Amino acid sequence: MVPFFRPSIGEAEIAEVVDSLRSGWLTTGPKTMQFEKDFAEFLGGDLHAVAVNSATAAMHLALEALEIGPGDEVIVPSYTFTATAEVIRYMGAQPVFIDCDLATFNIRPDQVEAAITPRTKAVMPVHFAGLPCDMEGMCSLAKQHGIKVVDDAAHALPAAQNGVSIGTGDADVTAFSFYANKTMTTGEGGMLVTRNPEIAARARTMRLHGISRDVFNRFTDTKASWRYDIVAPGFKYNMTDIAAALGLHQLRRVPEFLDRRTELCARFDAAFADLPLILPASAPSGDQHSRHLYIVRTTDASPVDRDRLIAGLQDRNIGTSVHYTPLHSMSYWRESCGLEKADFPNSEAIGSSCVSLPLFMAMSNEEQDIVIAAVREIMSA
Ligand SMILES: *Cc1c(COP(=O)(O)O)cnc(C)c1O
Repeated sequence: MVPFFRPSIGEAEIAEVVDSLRSGWLTTGPKTMQFEKDFAEFLGGDLHAVAVNSATAAMHLALEALEIGPGDEVIVPSYTFTATAEVIRYMGAQPVFIDCDLATFNIRPDQVEAAITPRTKAVMPVHFAGLPCDMEGMCSLAKQHGIKVVDDAAHALPAAQNGVSIGTGDADVTAFSFYANKTMTTGEGGMLVTRNPEIAARARTMRLHGISRDVFNRFTDTKASWRYDIVAPGFKYNMTDIAAALGLHQLRRVPEFLDRRTELCARFDAAFADLPLILPASAPSGDQHSRHLYIVRTTDASPVDRDRLIAGLQDRNIGTSVHYTPLHSMSYWRESCGLEKADFPNSEAIGSSCVSLPLFMAMSNEEQDIVIAAVREIMSA
């Protein structure tokens, strides 16, 4: 049995969580503040990092801080997780879905440009599986048209384009995810990253009910005034110190996680080179792929289609996943936005042929060899 994913939680993470439990401070507090500081330092550069309880929350807060609302359009890939698009609806704005590139699964600046209208306020790129989007192209296009870039970097820690780490470039806001199966985890969690101090301040207020200052200061500084103001109807998106306790140690291990994931991907690439499968695109030199997911595609030359490949792996007790069924074929998005398959040929082709294979830090070579042997057996049937 090889699971699709198993997190790597070390003794340091466990001890830090226990320390939080014993400390008497469970919710947003000193560990969350330290995690924000460490995260900004890890990315490098002059950044504000605001810890929240999911990447979805971070993207919602980003659109809120950018004052995107009814009548506005935001361009998103159809080939992404629903969270990228749903936050646009939270703000009462209109998602405009576009197709992705067939080789990279990412949206290209020329595809974005073709969808820009006078109502367009922002674009939300996704770095699919951890392969960086053309952020230079995306951000210069955005600047030219006066639109914002809200970067869904849920797959992209650590990733870089042309030596520029995702989160440190020209995007207005970047959202990272620490969901259980992401490249580092806090169980549930996310980080909003921006250079803009006003966006950061607004997100800090709105992540906790619209309270005008951090409640943490109110509780730890016994001399602080008990008075506070509510400046907006905010949300409940703050990160707990229990989650941050995990994050502090997972963050330190990101380079080690990346090395192992890179090694595992190279082993898959070598083992599948002769099979009738499309293997994942690699990053151009100078770019860093985070290696979040390893996705193969079946082709017309494959002896079995995608569904039978998944069933065959399931029969052999090997976990898989599909990232993703494109949003244009999900009933809510299809019906509410009047989307047609014909407008998304690349997303259709990828979504009907892709399988994500097990890939995680703690996967042993022996476990990977079981997956390799199973895929080879099924693909040579
Ligand atoms: C996981 C994921 C999200 C959501 O992250 P959460 O932290 O669970 O909110 C958003 N976008 C993409 C592309 C993801 O993979």
